[in-house]
Amino acid sequence: MSAGQTASEKLYRLLPSADATLLRPEFLVLLETRSRAVLIEATRRVLGRVRLEIAEGRHTQESVLGFVGVIAEAVAREVGRILSSTLVPVLNATGVILHTNLGRAPLSDEAIQAIVAIASGYSNLEFDLATGSRGRRDRHAEPMLLRALSSILGGPVEKFGESWGVVVVNNCAAATFLALNSLAEGGEVLVSRGELVEIGGGFRIPEILLKAGVVLREVGTTNRTRVEDYANALSGNTRMILRVHQSNFRMEGFTEKPDFAELIELGKRTAIPVFEDQGTGLMLCLDDLHLREEPSLVDSFRKAPDLIAASGDKLLGGPQCGLLLGRSDLMETIRTNPLLRALRVDKLTYAALEATLLSYVAQQEDDIPIIRMLRIPAEALRERCKLMRAALAVDLLETSVVPVHSVIGGGAAPGLKLASFALSLRHSSHTASDFLAILRRQTPPVIARMQNDCVLLDLRTVPPEQDGMLVRLLRAAAAGGSE
Ligand SMILES: *Cc1c(COP(=O)(O)O)cnc(C)c1O
Repeated sequence: MSAGQTASEKLYRLLPSADATLLRPEFLVLLETRSRAVLIEATRRVLGRVRLEIAEGRHTQESVLGFVGVIAEAVAREVGRILSSTLVPVLNATGVILHTNLGRAPLSDEAIQAIVAIASGYSNLEFDLATGSRGRRDRHAEPMLLRALSSILGGPVEKFGESWGVVVVNNCAAATFLALNSLAEGGEVLVSRGELVEIGGGFRIPEILLKAGVVLREVGTTNRTRVEDYANALSGNTRMILRVHQSNFRMEGFTEKPDFAELIELGKRTAIPVFEDQGTGLMLCLDDLHLREEPSLVDSFRKAPDLIAASGDKLLGGPQCGLLLGRSDLMETIRTNPLLRALRVDKLTYAALEATLLSYVAQQEDDIPIIRMLRIPAEALRERCKLMRAALAVDLLETSVVPVHSVIGGGAAPGLKLASFALSLRHSSHTASDFLAILRRQTPPVIARMQNDCVLLDLRTVPPEQDGMLVRLLRAAAAGGSE
């Protein structure tokens, strides 16, 4: 024990102090380009790691001296780590198309170009070009959304969207909150017991109602709610009927909920606004994918409740935002709520949203990455997996191509599974979970999943042009390093 201690003490003494390290000639260049504070921090971290290694008995006099000889390189790498963003791009090989933890929908090239154009200069965000005076931010995207929805329904805006208005906020949770607070604060809102759901990320309908200052009036039962249940619960205090799309789970068996049209009819008869939290923002009827049963935003728009809320970055495939669309008079009340100022979106969101909606208007929805991903046939994925497997050819990896299911994720279409293929990998000396961790340390990190002690890479969510990069990253990971 004491002999060991003496040995490591000798090794510690071979290490320079952080201050002395910076005096070494090879640091002159680094000192010119980086602040001294960052260099000191990086040097302390590097030295700290070596001290730890010495304490663990992993060093000899030779290896410590060797390290000191190249300390500038280690410090430069550490500076790179210290100064790197916390937010970085990753390769999503999970097959989960709307992975909430991985940023949901990737944007189309058109949306990205629109962001660049607006971000790199000034814009008419709140400026009326016709009059040269102050304009309204909350009017952007309104015509494009109504045009997109109307054209999908096969008619001009005048036919479907004339009496509608649109407000864009930070996300669908904000849209729901703002609508409730603007139109029902201090009053009662009717919600079916089967729809008092948690969407994920702490978004619970009863809590949102409470925070919005409205009183929740539960109607029906968990599994069955009829239109009479709503009718019987109406009172002088009722301000709104809320319908929440059960986006992330399915109820089966002895269940009943009123036809949406009947509920809208009840609202019209009693002059109580019917508000639907639609959620997904699905703009298409994806028959080919058996998404026909998935309620779409277009469908809601056609049925014309008084108000609808949807997400911008779920099945619509645009930027993170919440769309609130509804009867013009209700939208005017919403626009006067001071909370809109706190929930409003920035110019980059409008830019990306309008460009995404334009793809629907132009019937070019395959420009939208998530729509492309949804539509890739399983066979095409099998071919890419095979090519990747052949290109990989690394002794340390046992590979095969296996059938899997991709899912939509993001709390949408929970029952839907898309037939897909994955590249399955088994490393000769790492467990699957160790290999997953090594993949996460690559640049960019590769996020995959694990099944039966194999790592699975589902290529549905990997853009085909990144297959080559993925092969390089897999090779680097197999060799145990990082690219
Ligand atoms: C996803 C979802 C939300 C929350 O949407 P965000 O844009 O993530 O805030 C709200 N309601 C429903 C029905 C949803 O599916």
